[in-house]
Amino acid sequence: MALSQNIVDKLVRQEILVDELSDKELVQFCQIANLAYRAGKPIVSDQDYDFIYLVALKDRDPDNPLFKFIEPEGRAFSEEKVLLPEAMLSIDKAYSWDEISKWIERLEKSAMQIGLGLDAIQIKATPKLDGFAGFDDGNRLYTRGDGKKGSNISRVFERGLCVFNDAERGLGAGEIVIKKSYFEKYLAHSFEYPRNFQASLIKEKALDEQAQKAIIDKAALFVPFVQLPAWSGFVAELVTKFDQIIAQVLVMVDFDVDGVVFEVVNTDLKTQMGANRKFHRWQVAFKENKDKAQVKVLSVTPQVGRSGKITPVAELEPTLLSGATIVRATGHHYGLVKKQGLGMGSVVELTRSGLVIPKIISVLKPMPVDIPDNCPSCNKPLVWESDFLMCINHKNCPAQIIGKMTYFFKILANNDGLGVATIEKLYAHDIRLVSQIYALNIEHLMVMGFGEKTSMNLINQLNRSVSEQVEDWRFLAAFGMHRMGLGNCENLLKSYYLNDIFDLNLEQITNIDGFAELTAQIIVQGLISIADEFNRLYRYGFNLETTLLTKNLQTLTNELFNKKVVFTGKMSHSRDDMKKHAKSIGIKVSTTISAKTDYLVIGDKTGQKKIQDAEKFGVVVMIEADYLSKI
Ligand SMILES: [Zn+2]
Repeated sequence: MALSQNIVDKLVRQEILVDELSDKELVQFCQIANLAYRAGKPIVSDQDYDFIYLVALKDRDPDNPLFKFIEPEGRAFSEEKVLLPEAMLSIDKAYSWDEISKWIERLEKSAMQIGLGLDAIQIKATPKLDGFAGFDDGNRLYTRGDGKKGSNISRVFERGLCVFNDAERGLGAGEIVIKKSYFEKYLAHSFEYPRNFQASLIKEKALDEQAQKAIIDKAALFVPFVQLPAWSGFVAELVTKFDQIIAQVLVMVDFDVDGVVFEVVNTDLKTQMGANRKFHRWQVAFKENKDKAQVKVLSVTPQVGRSGKITPVAELEPTLLSGATIVRATGHHYGLVKKQGLGMGSVVELTRSGLVIPKIISVLKPMPVDIPDNCPSCNKPLVWESDFLMCINHKNCPAQIIGKMTYFFKILANNDGLGVATIEKLYAHDIRLVSQIYALNIEHLMVMGFGEKTSMNLINQLNRSVSEQVEDWRFLAAFGMHRMGLGNCENLLKSYYLNDIFDLNLEQITNIDGFAELTAQIIVQGLISIADEFNRLYRYGFNLETTLLTKNLQTLTNELFNKKVVFTGKMSHSRDDMKKHAKSIGIKVSTTISAKTDYLVIGDKTGQKKIQDAEKFGVVVMIEADYLSKI
């Protein structure tokens, strides 16, 4: 059930937008792009990959299991995985000064919590190498693998690879890189990207002559991060001289660099900020997309969304930018189009902050805009709702009906083949509701002109979508109610069972944390509007995971529910993970011991001070194993 090559190609060529992918397709695309990258044959630029993976996917599905793992490196190696001497986390990324300043705000907040003056926060900036990550413990060299286990690639050192600046072995994390000037002079004719060459150094087969020579010439090197030249200074300087610092650091080394890594120097502050599963919070990589182009707008086409919102899409003069030809970009909404003068013949400045979302930065030469009077799908007059141009013919507008049905299967995300093309064909045969689709059989589909094999496949996919378990909130979100995305649906179903939500009144919804009164009103109306279709679909017996039940079971079997717990010392799991898990099952986690604390959970190397505090306040002390057995 791999993502079809066709979709991958179309994405790379930007013939379809990332919005048009289902969550599942998006995940699959990330996996494919990742594999291709690791094999040294990237299909998209790093910026695009980072964007689609870290921005688009995170935005769409922040809880996707992909984020629990660090993008695996060195998948091309089949050898057995060995435990890394220490976990190698990824680096969080920022693409704008805005994001960097948010990071600075977070570190200032943490500094205040430990009483560190803001003028005492020290920052170090180093070039972010675009090489092959490894960890050198002095004995062996490991690939980063999944961040916890990697492959043993010590053979690279046996082949004569030197450490940068002739330093000794054992300096920890770093990257295998090739000098840029050397690559351009000797290798560029045989390798498309330095990464392909870097990968060839590590391969199990004997090295070819070129690779051996690069090692002897000390052009191919292992660069431990601690060896990198750096800018260092106080946080105030970073704020005032950001652009200068970036410019300075980017050219510090003769290696491929794809950004600048900022990190906190103060040890206490680093400890205070800690890490999540993927990143150290005291570190961030700034990556900039410098590629821009001035592009002429050929026309602006209105597209109708499932809610009736009309989105302007700018058709552009085909332009090569960051390695792909761009032909379209979204104008977001007609209010903006009007304000910016995004009309036929206008000239825009374009960048590619993402693979399939070319971004219009500004309109350089405005032209009169063409605001459509009628819906391009149903031809009914359009109306303005604040900045948005809307088709309010919600019941009969083909684009909206098709959009809603497509959305259902996209959000459910446990089916294939029920994309927009299939739904359009069903629409042409008078199908208007998802429940009507579930009532179809193979014969019906064949009468509509689907082939026998396709019909069978579609029925299989419909059956699969019913039998494969999905969360009840995902099922509810698939109905596409206003203000009822995945997050709000989950929040609602953490408090009420799916069958009960249709009887809720305004007050009951407002009482749930996170729902303001206006949202609650919209939810009540939305539920009334979907009730009939919900009941028809519900009867098909979807295999739904009951969120509230799962939550109740966890709290019922957990004697620490609602108790205040402090964790300290080195645990077998990362302390952050333990805290997160504890919170998820209703334990109140805090960092300091007080009279209100119920339990102190201790790992190895716990400071005496904490235990004395616990005794002072009469807090029960337990070891990690006891804690784990209680939950
Ligand atoms: Zn319409």
